[in-house]
Formats: sequence, structure tokens, C-alpha cells
Amino acid sequence: MVLGFDMANVLSVTDVGSDSEFTLRSEEVFEEALRWMPGGVSSPVRAFRAVGGAPFFVKKARGARLVTVEGRELIDYVCGWGPHILGHADARIVSVVQKAAEGGLSFGVNQPGEVELARRIVKALRCVEKVRFCNSGTEAVATAIRLVRGATGRDVIVKFAGCYHGHVDALLVSGGSGQLTLGRPDSAGVPGQVAVLTRVLPFNDMQALRGLFAEIGGEIAGVIVEPVPANAGLYLPQAGFLESLKELCLRHGALLIFDEVMTGFRLARGGASEIFGVQPDIFVLGKVIGGGLPVGAVCGSARLMDLLAPDGPVYHAGTLAGNPMVTAAGVAQLDALEQEEAWGRLALAGSALAEGLRAAARAAGVQVQVQQVGSMLCVYFTANPVRNLSDAMLCDTEMFARFFHGMLKRGIYIPPSQFESWFMTLAHGEEEVEETIKASREVFCSL
Ligand SMILES: *Cc1c(COP(=O)(O)O)cnc(C)c1O
Repeated sequence: MVLGFDMANVLSVTDVGSDSEFTLRSEEVFEEALRWMPGGVSSPVRAFRAVGGAPFFVKKARGARLVTVEGRELIDYVCGWGPHILGHADARIVSVVQKAAEGGLSFGVNQPGEVELARRIVKALRCVEKVRFCNSGTEAVATAIRLVRGATGRDVIVKFAGCYHGHVDALLVSGGSGQLTLGRPDSAGVPGQVAVLTRVLPFNDMQALRGLFAEIGGEIAGVIVEPVPANAGLYLPQAGFLESLKELCLRHGALLIFDEVMTGFRLARGGASEIFGVQPDIFVLGKVIGGGLPVGAVCGSARLMDLLAPDGPVYHAGTLAGNPMVTAAGVAQLDALEQEEAWGRLALAGSALAEGLRAAARAAGVQVQVQQVGSMLCVYFTANPVRNLSDAMLCDTEMFARFFHGMLKRGIYIPPSQFESWFMTLAHGEEEVEETIKASREVFCSL
């Protein structure tokens, strides 16, 4: 079969709002996608496997809303999985990206925007003195892992069940996000010799943590953690957990990595680290610092970061690393966050939505746990508190799927999996929150 549509039309963003713009049907595009792409997608959660049904295709996005290829408007709580904290297609970012693009798409030599973005990150994060850029969170995690091994001369990495750190081999063990969505927390193709160097602990379990350090503390190169795990839904560190982790790492000469790809510059200027008052040795960033373009960053003290090539023996490189459009978008986004005093406003919007959803569920007699911090939120379909992956796994995923489709039918797009966090932006105002709560009342009642 030949493509049932013409690509020029798919890519056109002119003639906004006219009917002729919306000539495609998502089902048809997906059918076509299945022929040419595994699962019909570029990233697994997009396939809607956890909720069933065919995924929709997006034509464009603005503010808090997506517009599908059919011309249907949806209030978006996925928001590119986190990067778009100002809202989609924010004019301040779009204009600097356009300008940067006109000046050249990438140079493969240095450009001042990298220095500017690095400087802003250093100013925002305590204990960070230098930054190395790359193209994704996954790459940044891979480099951070190599760095802690290079720095300590040790091999063992500790992670927590349900935390997702991108698709690096060493960390595709008991992973979150798409791995959980598909019910396969371990990936085929990861050699046993690699996996044995990764030790997995339950999150918020102080006893297990102390036990492992007592057993093999001297072999641990580093511990990587999402300080606020948000790839198995969303749960928070219990009082003292991150502090103990930090203290054990210090005592045993292991390095602590905070994977703040999701939470960095989202929960606060200084990320989850600022909120919980614990400083890691290394931060991994991504998402928000790229303004919606591909980015990752490893950040730490000069002593550690100077171990990277060319000054040190730990290798990392990237053809497109420090790309001028990416750094322009990142700087513009971080500036806008400062100017708008964004974090307080985002947290208010987050708690308003969480409160509304709780009330709606209560009124309908549906037992849920609405967990929220700042502009991140998750509605777990369970009667019990969720503190770690095993608690999250007790949720009624079938009821979640019905909730998802009920919301989608009413024009609200939430993540297509029980095990993903919702994201809000500065463009999610009272109107969007109200509309969402109203829809949720109807959907909760229908469950
Ligand atoms: C998204 C995410 C990653 C991976 O980033 P990519 O840019 O998708 O490679 C790593 N860690 C966390 C905590 C994430 O949320």
C-alpha cells in the first residue's frame, strides 16, 4: 500500500486552523506506522499497550494543549514527558530556536551558548562546578556511570527497583517507565556479566540499604537514584532516606548520583536536591534544560568532572553535544522560569489539581492515592499508600485503563500508563485544571 497521505501535508504548519489542515485519521497513520516501525512507535509507551486502543497522532501543540491530526484538541498532562514546563511552543523558546537555526544547525566546534547554559546550571545547583553536555538523559546516565567507576576504580552500581535511568545496559534491571508498562522490568540483550554488576534495592527501605553496604560497601562505585521516583508513577522519599543514602556513600567511598533528568529545574531551581536538602556528588539532567530539544548533562565538582576527556581518563564525546539550538532553547527556558517565579506557581497548580482529583474520586467512592509534588502528580488506583515499586504494583491497572480512556474521550490526555507521572506547565491555568477535575468527576463515577 502507498501512504494514504502526502508528507508535505503532514509537515505543514501553515494555514493554521483551516479544515484542510486536518485531513488525516490517527488510526490510518498508525496502521501505516506499524508497517514501517517496530510497534509503530519511536518509544514504547507511545504504543498505548498498557491501556489498549490505537494511539493518536499529533499535528501540533500550543500552551497546555495538543491538536491531533484530526484537529481534536486535548489538554495535555504528558507535555513531552516533562521538558515543556512553560507550555508547548512557548514563543520565547521558539523565537530563539529559529534565530539559532538561521545561524547554523550545528558546528562541531564550540559555541558560546554551551558556556551560558553550563553557567546557569552551575549557579542553580549546590556543589556543581562543571557541566558536560550530551544529547539525551540516557547518554548522560551512561557517562555518569562510567565516571563513578573511573573515579573509584570499582565496578558495582546500586539502583532502586522501579527507577528508570534511560536505556543503558547496566540499568535496564528492574527498570521503570516503559519497562513496567510492558510488564518486563528487565531487557533481553543485557549480558549477565553486565547485569551482575548492578545491585537493585527497594526504594525507601533503610534496612536493605544498610544491609547491602555492610555486605559489599567497599565494592560499590556509585549509587544512582531518582530522588523523587517518577517512572513507576510517583512516590516520595521518606524522611531520612536520602540522608542515609548520602551518609552511607560517604562512609564507604561510593559516589552518589541523583538522576534529576525529570525533576531538575522542574520541582525547584535546584531540583529535588534543593527540596529535600541532600546534595549528591553528581547530578544527571535532561528534559527541562533543553527546552524541548534533545539534551542531557552530567554535572559535578571540578575534581570529578575533570576526570572526563580531554583532561582525564574517562571517555565521553558527542557529534551534536552542545548544539546551538538546544542551548539557546535551554537558556531561554531557564530564564523564563526565573522571570515568572515559576516554581511556586507550578506547585499551586499541582496541588489544586491533586485536591480536585481526590475530592472527585472520594465523591464517586473510588479508592485512589493522588500523589503530588510541585507540577508532578500520579493517580494510583489503590486504597493503600504507595512508597515503592511493590506498593505501586498492587494498583488496579485495568481500572486505570478505563479511567485513561474516559478522560481521553473528554479531551484530557493523561499518561497512557499507571506507572508514569503527569506533568503540568505554566500554561495549565485554572480553566484547564477545572475542566480536568470536571471530566474526572464524570469518569470516576462511571468506573
Ligand atoms: C526520561 C528519563 C531518563 C532518560 O532520558 P532520555 O532523554 O529519554 O534518554 C533518565 N532518567 C530519568 C529519571 C528520566 O525521567
